[in-house]
Amino acid sequence: MVEVEACAVCRTDLHVVDGELPEPRLPVVPGHEIVGRVVALGAGVTAFQPGQRVGIPWLGHTCGCCSYCREGDENLCDRPLFTGYTRDGGFATHVVADAHFAFALDGFADPVAAAPLMCAGLIGWRCFKKAGGRRIGLYGFGAAAHILAQVARWQGREVYAFTSPGDAAAQAHARSLGVRWAGGSDEAPPEPLDAAIIFAPVGALVPRALAAVRKGGRVVCGGIHMSDIPAFPYRILWEERQVLSVANLTREDAVEFLAIAPQAGVRTTTTVYPLERANEALADLRHGRFQGAAVLVP
Ligand SMILES: [Zn+2]
Ligand SMILES: [Zn+2]
Repeated sequence: MVEVEACAVCRTDLHVVDGELPEPRLPVVPGHEIVGRVVALGAGVTAFQPGQRVGIPWLGHTCGCCSYCREGDENLCDRPLFTGYTRDGGFATHVVADAHFAFALDGFADPVAAAPLMCAGLIGWRCFKKAGGRRIGLYGFGAAAHILAQVARWQGREVYAFTSPGDAAAQAHARSLGVRWAGGSDEAPPEPLDAAIIFAPVGALVPRALAAVRKGGRVVCGGIHMSDIPAFPYRILWEERQVLSVANLTREDAVEFLAIAPQAGVRTTTTVYPLERANEALADLRHGRFQGAAVLVP
Protein backbone atom coordinates (compact mmCIF):
# COMPACT_ATOMS: atom_id res chain seq x y z
CA MET A 1 0.00 0.00 0.00
CA VAL A 2 1.25 3.42 -0.96
CA GLU A 3 0.42 6.83 0.51
CA VAL A 4 0.03 9.07 -2.55
CA GLU A 5 2.27 12.15 -2.62
CA ALA A 6 1.38 13.22 -6.15
CA CYS A 7 -0.56 11.88 -9.14
CA ALA A 8 -0.33 13.49 -12.56
CA VAL A 9 -3.36 13.82 -14.82
CA CYS A 10 -3.19 12.12 -18.22
CA ARG A 11 -5.43 12.45 -21.27
CA THR A 12 -6.31 8.78 -20.72
CA ASP A 13 -7.98 9.83 -17.45
CA LEU A 14 -10.26 12.04 -19.56
CA HIS A 15 -11.06 9.09 -21.83
CA VAL A 16 -11.89 6.98 -18.72
CA VAL A 17 -14.09 9.71 -17.23
CA ASP A 18 -15.81 10.29 -20.59
CA GLY A 19 -16.53 6.56 -21.02
CA GLU A 20 -14.57 6.34 -24.26
CA LEU A 21 -12.67 3.16 -23.34
CA PRO A 22 -14.23 -0.32 -23.58
CA GLU A 23 -15.20 -2.46 -20.58
CA PRO A 24 -14.43 -0.06 -17.73
CA ARG A 25 -14.59 -1.40 -14.20
CA LEU A 26 -16.99 0.96 -12.45
CA PRO A 27 -16.82 2.58 -10.02
CA VAL A 28 -13.10 3.22 -10.44
CA VAL A 29 -10.63 5.73 -9.02
CA PRO A 30 -8.71 7.22 -12.00
CA GLY A 31 -5.03 8.17 -12.03
CA HIS A 32 -2.01 6.20 -13.22
CA GLU A 33 0.96 8.54 -12.79
CA ILE A 34 1.41 7.94 -9.08
CA VAL A 35 4.32 8.84 -6.83
CA GLY A 36 4.11 7.98 -3.16
CA ARG A 37 5.62 6.35 -0.11
CA VAL A 38 5.25 2.68 0.79
CA VAL A 39 3.25 2.41 4.01
CA ALA A 40 2.58 -1.32 4.15
CA LEU A 41 3.92 -4.41 2.39
CA GLY A 42 2.03 -7.54 1.45
CA ALA A 43 3.25 -10.96 2.57
CA GLY A 44 6.42 -11.96 0.75
CA VAL A 45 7.21 -8.51 -0.73
CA THR A 46 10.93 -7.90 -0.24
CA ALA A 47 11.73 -5.47 -3.07
CA PHE A 48 10.64 -2.37 -1.10
CA GLN A 49 10.92 -0.95 2.40
CA PRO A 50 8.30 1.02 4.32
CA GLY A 51 8.85 4.74 3.70
CA GLN A 52 10.48 4.18 0.32
CA ARG A 53 9.35 6.42 -2.57
CA VAL A 54 7.88 4.48 -5.49
CA GLY A 55 6.16 5.17 -8.79
CA ILE A 56 3.08 3.30 -10.02
CA PRO A 57 2.28 3.42 -13.75
CA TRP A 58 -0.61 2.49 -16.05
CA LEU A 59 0.45 -1.16 -16.37
CA GLY A 60 -0.83 -2.55 -13.07
CA HIS A 61 -0.59 -6.30 -13.62
CA THR A 62 0.04 -8.87 -16.34
CA CYS A 63 -0.75 -12.58 -16.36
CA GLY A 64 2.81 -13.71 -17.07
CA CYS A 65 1.67 -16.76 -19.03
CA CYS A 66 -0.16 -15.66 -22.20
CA SER A 67 1.71 -15.78 -25.51
CA TYR A 68 2.44 -12.03 -25.38
CA CYS A 69 3.84 -12.15 -21.85
CA ARG A 70 6.01 -15.13 -22.78
CA GLU A 71 7.37 -13.32 -25.87
CA GLY A 72 8.36 -10.22 -23.88
CA ASP A 73 5.41 -8.16 -25.13
CA GLU A 74 3.71 -7.83 -21.75
CA ASN A 75 2.26 -4.48 -22.85
CA LEU A 76 -0.10 -6.59 -25.04
CA CYS A 77 -1.02 -9.12 -22.30
CA ASP A 78 -4.37 -10.85 -22.79
CA ARG A 79 -5.35 -10.53 -19.10
CA PRO A 80 -3.85 -7.27 -17.85
CA LEU A 81 -4.94 -4.81 -15.18
CA PHE A 82 -4.51 -1.10 -15.74
CA THR A 83 -4.12 1.38 -12.92
CA GLY A 84 -6.96 3.89 -12.79
CA TYR A 85 -8.99 1.94 -15.39
CA THR A 86 -9.48 -1.68 -14.38
CA ARG A 87 -8.03 -1.28 -10.89
CA ASP A 88 -8.19 1.74 -8.60
CA GLY A 89 -5.66 4.48 -9.22
CA GLY A 90 -4.07 7.50 -7.66
CA PHE A 91 -6.70 10.25 -7.50
CA ALA A 92 -6.75 9.28 -3.83
CA THR A 93 -4.80 9.52 -0.59
CA HIS A 94 -3.75 5.84 -0.72
CA VAL A 95 -3.51 3.16 -3.39
CA VAL A 96 -2.82 -0.57 -3.40
CA ALA A 97 -0.43 -1.72 -6.11
CA ASP A 98 1.11 -4.99 -7.27
CA ALA A 99 4.73 -4.68 -6.06
CA HIS A 100 5.95 -6.28 -9.29
CA PHE A 101 4.59 -3.29 -11.18
CA ALA A 102 5.93 -0.53 -8.92
CA PHE A 103 9.28 1.19 -9.39
CA ALA A 104 11.73 2.57 -6.85
CA LEU A 105 12.14 6.33 -7.19
CA ASP A 106 14.93 6.75 -4.64
CA GLY A 107 16.78 9.35 -6.71
CA PHE A 108 13.72 11.52 -7.38
CA ALA A 109 13.51 14.21 -4.71
CA ASP A 110 10.36 15.99 -5.89
CA PRO A 111 7.21 13.84 -6.17
CA VAL A 112 5.32 16.50 -8.14
CA ALA A 113 8.09 16.77 -10.74
CA ALA A 114 8.39 12.97 -10.99
CA ALA A 115 4.68 12.18 -11.36
CA PRO A 116 4.35 13.09 -15.09
CA LEU A 117 7.24 10.77 -15.87
CA MET A 118 5.09 7.77 -14.90
CA CYS A 119 2.96 7.87 -18.07
CA ALA A 120 3.78 10.87 -20.22
CA GLY A 121 7.41 9.83 -19.76
CA LEU A 122 7.16 6.03 -19.89
CA ILE A 123 4.66 5.60 -22.73
CA GLY A 124 6.21 8.59 -24.47
CA TRP A 125 9.53 6.75 -24.30
CA ARG A 126 8.02 3.65 -25.87
CA CYS A 127 6.64 5.82 -28.71
CA PHE A 128 10.01 7.47 -29.08
CA LYS A 129 11.79 4.10 -29.45
CA LYS A 130 9.28 2.98 -32.07
CA ALA A 131 9.69 6.23 -33.99
CA GLY A 132 13.47 6.34 -34.35
CA GLY A 133 15.10 8.86 -36.67
CA ARG A 134 16.96 12.15 -36.21
CA ARG A 135 14.24 14.63 -37.18
CA ILE A 136 11.18 13.92 -35.06
CA GLY A 137 7.82 15.65 -35.23
CA LEU A 138 5.63 15.73 -32.09
CA TYR A 139 1.94 16.41 -32.75
CA GLY A 140 0.29 17.73 -29.60
CA PHE A 141 2.78 19.50 -27.36
CA GLY A 142 1.48 18.48 -23.93
CA ALA A 143 2.88 16.43 -21.08
CA ALA A 144 4.49 13.64 -23.12
CA ALA A 145 5.93 15.89 -25.84
CA HIS A 146 7.49 18.35 -23.41
CA ILE A 147 9.36 15.48 -21.73
CA LEU A 148 10.40 13.78 -24.97
CA ALA A 149 11.61 17.04 -26.50
CA GLN A 150 14.18 17.26 -23.71
CA VAL A 151 15.28 13.64 -24.14
CA ALA A 152 15.55 14.05 -27.91
CA ARG A 153 17.62 17.19 -27.60
CA TRP A 154 19.92 15.50 -25.07
CA GLN A 155 20.40 12.72 -27.63
CA GLY A 156 21.25 15.24 -30.36
CA ARG A 157 18.02 14.83 -32.32
CA GLU A 158 15.94 17.62 -33.82
CA VAL A 159 12.38 18.14 -32.60
CA TYR A 160 9.60 19.75 -34.61
CA ALA A 161 6.63 20.67 -32.40
CA PHE A 162 3.11 20.80 -33.85
CA THR A 163 0.36 22.40 -31.76
CA SER A 164 -3.25 23.34 -32.38
CA PRO A 165 -3.17 26.07 -35.04
CA GLY A 166 -2.64 29.43 -33.36
CA ASP A 167 -1.68 28.04 -29.93
CA ALA A 168 1.13 30.57 -29.41
CA ALA A 169 1.56 29.62 -25.72
CA ALA A 170 2.26 25.95 -26.50
CA GLN A 171 4.60 26.93 -29.35
CA ALA A 172 6.49 29.28 -27.02
CA HIS A 173 6.72 26.50 -24.41
CA ALA A 174 8.14 24.16 -27.07
CA ARG A 175 10.71 26.75 -28.18
CA SER A 176 11.76 27.30 -24.55
CA LEU A 177 12.70 23.60 -24.46
CA GLY A 178 14.97 23.91 -27.48
CA VAL A 179 12.88 22.50 -30.31
CA ARG A 180 14.17 23.32 -33.77
CA TRP A 181 10.78 24.45 -35.07
CA ALA A 182 7.30 25.00 -33.63
CA GLY A 183 4.13 25.66 -35.57
CA GLY A 184 0.53 24.68 -36.13
CA SER A 185 -0.52 21.14 -37.04
CA ASP A 186 -1.89 22.56 -40.29
CA GLU A 187 1.62 23.67 -41.32
CA ALA A 188 4.30 21.67 -43.12
CA PRO A 189 7.65 21.37 -41.33
CA PRO A 190 10.58 23.22 -42.97
CA GLU A 191 12.19 19.84 -43.80
CA PRO A 192 10.72 16.35 -44.24
CA LEU A 193 10.68 14.43 -40.93
CA ASP A 194 12.21 11.01 -40.28
CA ALA A 195 9.33 10.19 -37.94
CA ALA A 196 6.36 11.72 -36.20
CA ILE A 197 4.58 10.85 -32.96
CA ILE A 198 0.94 11.86 -32.54
CA PHE A 199 -0.11 12.48 -28.93
CA ALA A 200 -3.24 14.52 -29.65
CA PRO A 201 -6.36 12.28 -29.88
CA VAL A 202 -7.17 13.63 -33.34
CA GLY A 203 -7.39 11.14 -36.22
CA ALA A 204 -7.12 13.93 -38.81
CA LEU A 205 -3.49 14.33 -37.76
CA VAL A 206 -2.55 10.91 -39.20
CA PRO A 207 -2.69 11.99 -42.87
CA ARG A 208 -1.08 15.31 -41.96
CA ALA A 209 1.81 13.59 -40.23
CA LEU A 210 2.15 11.09 -43.12
CA ALA A 211 2.48 14.02 -45.51
CA ALA A 212 5.24 15.45 -43.31
CA VAL A 213 7.50 12.35 -43.14
CA ARG A 214 10.09 11.35 -45.71
CA LYS A 215 10.17 8.13 -47.74
CA GLY A 216 10.38 5.20 -45.30
CA GLY A 217 9.31 7.45 -42.43
CA ARG A 218 7.10 6.39 -39.54
CA VAL A 219 4.04 7.86 -37.89
CA VAL A 220 3.46 6.55 -34.36
CA CYS A 221 0.06 7.03 -32.72
CA GLY A 222 0.75 7.28 -28.99
CA GLY A 223 -2.74 7.64 -27.52
CA ILE A 224 -5.18 5.00 -26.27
CA HIS A 225 -8.09 6.61 -28.12
CA MET A 226 -8.36 8.77 -31.20
CA SER A 227 -11.17 10.21 -33.31
CA ASP A 228 -11.69 8.45 -36.65
CA ILE A 229 -8.91 8.76 -39.20
CA PRO A 230 -10.23 10.38 -42.40
CA ALA A 231 -9.66 8.75 -45.80
CA PHE A 232 -6.42 9.82 -47.44
CA PRO A 233 -4.69 9.24 -50.79
CA TYR A 234 -2.48 6.17 -50.95
CA ARG A 235 0.42 8.22 -52.31
CA ILE A 236 1.11 9.72 -48.84
CA LEU A 237 1.52 6.19 -47.42
CA TRP A 238 3.43 4.85 -50.41
CA GLU A 239 7.26 4.76 -50.51
CA GLU A 240 7.33 2.55 -47.43
CA ARG A 241 5.94 5.01 -44.96
CA GLN A 242 4.45 3.29 -41.91
CA VAL A 243 1.64 4.05 -39.50
CA LEU A 244 1.72 2.21 -36.17
CA SER A 245 0.33 2.52 -32.68
CA VAL A 246 1.78 2.08 -29.23
CA ALA A 247 -0.21 0.33 -26.51
CA ASN A 248 0.64 0.54 -22.81
CA LEU A 249 4.20 -0.08 -21.63
CA THR A 250 6.46 -2.88 -20.49
CA ARG A 251 8.35 -2.86 -17.21
CA GLU A 252 11.52 -2.77 -19.29
CA ASP A 253 10.39 0.57 -20.81
CA ALA A 254 9.94 1.91 -17.28
CA VAL A 255 13.35 0.78 -16.02
CA GLU A 256 15.06 2.27 -19.10
CA PHE A 257 13.28 5.58 -18.97
CA LEU A 258 13.59 6.12 -15.21
CA ALA A 259 17.37 5.76 -15.67
CA ILE A 260 17.48 8.09 -18.69
CA ALA A 261 15.30 10.93 -17.40
CA PRO A 262 17.76 12.13 -14.71
CA GLN A 263 20.73 11.72 -17.08
CA ALA A 264 18.95 13.82 -19.70
CA GLY A 265 18.16 16.43 -17.05
CA VAL A 266 14.44 16.24 -17.77
CA ARG A 267 12.53 19.00 -15.97
CA THR A 268 8.78 18.73 -16.04
CA THR A 269 6.51 21.75 -16.25
CA THR A 270 3.70 21.19 -13.76
CA THR A 271 0.55 22.88 -12.48
CA VAL A 272 -0.43 21.64 -9.01
CA TYR A 273 -4.05 21.12 -7.95
CA PRO A 274 -5.22 19.89 -4.56
CA LEU A 275 -6.83 16.45 -4.88
CA GLU A 276 -10.31 17.84 -4.20
CA ARG A 277 -9.98 19.96 -7.36
CA ALA A 278 -9.39 16.93 -9.60
CA ASN A 279 -12.38 17.79 -11.79
CA GLU A 280 -10.97 21.27 -12.39
CA ALA A 281 -7.64 19.74 -13.43
CA LEU A 282 -9.44 17.44 -15.88
CA ALA A 283 -11.42 20.37 -17.31
CA ASP A 284 -8.26 22.45 -17.72
CA LEU A 285 -6.57 19.53 -19.52
CA ARG A 286 -9.56 19.17 -21.83
CA HIS A 287 -9.38 22.86 -22.74
CA GLY A 288 -5.57 23.12 -22.91
CA ARG A 289 -5.39 25.71 -20.16
CA PHE A 290 -1.90 24.86 -18.87
CA GLN A 291 1.49 23.89 -20.29
CA GLY A 292 3.10 20.55 -19.40
CA ALA A 293 1.21 18.42 -16.90
CA ALA A 294 -1.39 18.87 -14.16
CA VAL A 295 -0.49 17.11 -10.90
CA LEU A 296 -2.89 16.35 -8.05
CA VAL A 297 -1.59 16.50 -4.49
CA PRO A 298 -3.67 15.02 -1.63
ZN1 LIG B 1 -1.46 8.06 -19.24
ZN1 LIG C 1 -0.21 -12.00 -20.29
